[in-house]
Amino acid sequence: MTTFSTKYFECNHCKQRMFHYELSSYHVHNSEAYSDGYIDYNPPVSFNPHVIFCRHCKKPIWYEDIDFIDFESYDEIERNDAVKSCDIFDLPMTRESNYNYNIAAYYSGLIDEGFVDTDGKEIKLRFEIWHLLNNLNSFGAAGWFTHFIHARFRIAFKMLKGWKQRRNEVHDSDKLFRKNLKRLCEIYQPANEEEKLLQAEMFREMRNFNTANKLMVEINDLNSTNAYRKINRAIKLRKSRVIKLN
Ligand SMILES: [Zn+2]
Repeated sequence: MTTFSTKYFECNHCKQRMFHYELSSYHVHNSEAYSDGYIDYNPPVSFNPHVIFCRHCKKPIWYEDIDFIDFESYDEIERNDAVKSCDIFDLPMTRESNYNYNIAAYYSGLIDEGFVDTDGKEIKLRFEIWHLLNNLNSFGAAGWFTHFIHARFRIAFKMLKGWKQRRNEVHDSDKLFRKNLKRLCEIYQPANEEEKLLQAEMFREMRNFNTANKLMVEINDLNSTNAYRKINRAIKLRKSRVIKLN
């Protein structure tokens, strides 16, 4: 069962009233977990949790910075006046076959323009970029399925057709992948052993197997977990691609 709760807010750029559906899902039928921390839920639980867009001015808004307004403080006219906020899938670039790359490049541009003002936000957005590019590089199929399940059939089939063409974009994608992950390695501060495992994974995917190995030794307590064993084995084999854990 999936439920929506409606939350109201005003765009911090143009002050227009909007509402946002907050999605919560009680039942996840199955999920696939990957070594980079990405979890592919079926059905999808939420997209793009950090950035939403103003319907009027189309500018990005950091979700956690929004001051939501009490439902009661708006009268009926004001509520009717509000329009639905946009998410990344409302932007034209996500209708193209290489949408994983397009979104990653867009987020990277936002970081370069100073959209994120703390390391914490930058880390969250760089995780999104990491996962988007890992999806593109290794799985490809996650994107069209997301559209398919939301009944965006035209987009889904168009994306499937563009699959082959995407191989040509691997070069740009790899470049952005390395640039993003290099910076993430620099600023990421693990708070516990699980996060340190994620840090080891970052270094593994950067093909810095020595550093990855050192981190794994420090968190040897986790060696009974599936994720630890799979990542550790990949480090020993000097493999750098993202791994499906379950
Ligand atoms: Zn606006």
